[in-house]
Amino acid sequence: MIFLSAKTQQLLRRVCSSSAAVRWRSAQLRLFCSSSPDDQEKPPPSILRHLTSKIKATGPISVAEYMREVLTNPVTGYYVKNNMLGPDGDFITSPEISQIFGELLGVWVISEWMGAGRPEQLQLVELGPGKGSLACDIIRVFSQLRSVLGDASVSLHLVEVSPTLSRLQAQNLTGTSSREADAEDEPVYRSGETAAGLPVSWYRRLDDIPTGFSVFLAHEFFDALPVHKFQRTEKGWREVMVDIDPEKPEQLRFVIAPSPTLASSTLVHADERRDHVEVCAEGGVIVQQLVRRIVEGGGAALIADYGHDGTKTDTFRGFRGHQLHDVLTSPGSADLTADVDFSFLRRMAGVGVACLGPVTQRTFLKNMGIDARLQVLLRNCSDASTRKQLISSYDMLTNSAHMGERFHFLGLLHRSRFAKPEKVSGLKLEKKSPLQLPVAGFTELSFS
Ligand code: SAH
Repeated sequence: MIFLSAKTQQLLRRVCSSSAAVRWRSAQLRLFCSSSPDDQEKPPPSILRHLTSKIKATGPISVAEYMREVLTNPVTGYYVKNNMLGPDGDFITSPEISQIFGELLGVWVISEWMGAGRPEQLQLVELGPGKGSLACDIIRVFSQLRSVLGDASVSLHLVEVSPTLSRLQAQNLTGTSSREADAEDEPVYRSGETAAGLPVSWYRRLDDIPTGFSVFLAHEFFDALPVHKFQRTEKGWREVMVDIDPEKPEQLRFVIAPSPTLASSTLVHADERRDHVEVCAEGGVIVQQLVRRIVEGGGAALIADYGHDGTKTDTFRGFRGHQLHDVLTSPGSADLTADVDFSFLRRMAGVGVACLGPVTQRTFLKNMGIDARLQVLLRNCSDASTRKQLISSYDMLTNSAHMGERFHFLGLLHRSRFAKPEKVSGLKLEKKSPLQLPVAGFTELSFS
């Protein structure tokens, strides 16, 4: 809290002191689990069939292509077909664990909007919204702070590849008010309105969202994007590919490409010291799109995920039935994921925006006032089991042994955000702050 501007502190006080009822969500942690319990339907064999016929026709495929097909193939993809979040699903994420998470991110969004001089328009854009819980919690904060938002025109824009999840998001955010687009190729494939009248639109691609001042949120989105894998060999960098096992034609195996591929020649950084690296080229492209939009239309982005700073090697893994799951076995039946390389994302962001962090989730949430919010909820709650739940979900989010240190927050901000304030209200700096940093949540400022 010591680094927050006075205005952000006021926002936090208002949200944190709200005695709005505790809203409960369910249970398991994605990091330790995922995917289908044993009794769940077996995956359709068609993903494996589709992949093996592709490999037979054109040769081994890259790990990125494998991951993209398994997760987001429009017919058989894991994300496209499943509702994997929640008590009956495969894993759970921070917004599902506690309402406080979304409330604090809601304060961050408004604080950035204020820091930018309260533009007339505020587009909240979420990439990969899951069940829509984060957006629901943020919208509740918007309603609480309606007087702060004044006459600003606020809208919600969701980038979601999964029709199944988009229906669930629509149900949670707009009740029965949403409509699907008439034509399949419409950029806005679904639209609706929240109970408070806030317009909500669904897109398949970030590029289809209208330009203008936007705050972008990506929570556990980048880890689901496909990674290329590369191995250092005596002959130089070679790409890891997925092939059919010649001994067992129903099984896949990893092979090393005998000669350089376009990806291995272009995606490995010249100064790379590790022997094995994963590069999420698609993540890099999305960061560049975010940067362009922030530079041109104003705004900020907050990327939160588990990851590292260019230090880890082999993190590609699957989760199914609360257990680690072999990534090549029963493709489509398990979530596939790879840790986010934040150093790569920062490099891709370039110098157009200011990069903040990454800071750990624990640091970010503590700076955002999670302790104060917990205390208020506890004060207003007399039920012993609910109090216990509140404390355990707080612990899950912040404890270093759980999600506190594994998850990181990276901020991308318009550079004008750091211009010397000319007595602009909303950018008043804390006298005691050694860095005079007016961005909520971050304690460290550095420019890429
Ligand atoms: N942010 C949510 C859900 C995380 S799961 C939470 O934290 O609870 C990943 C989400 O990203 C899902 O909604 C999934 O359908 C979506 N997704 C995965 N790949 C995507 C892609 N390439 N384009 C758009 N959405 C994608």
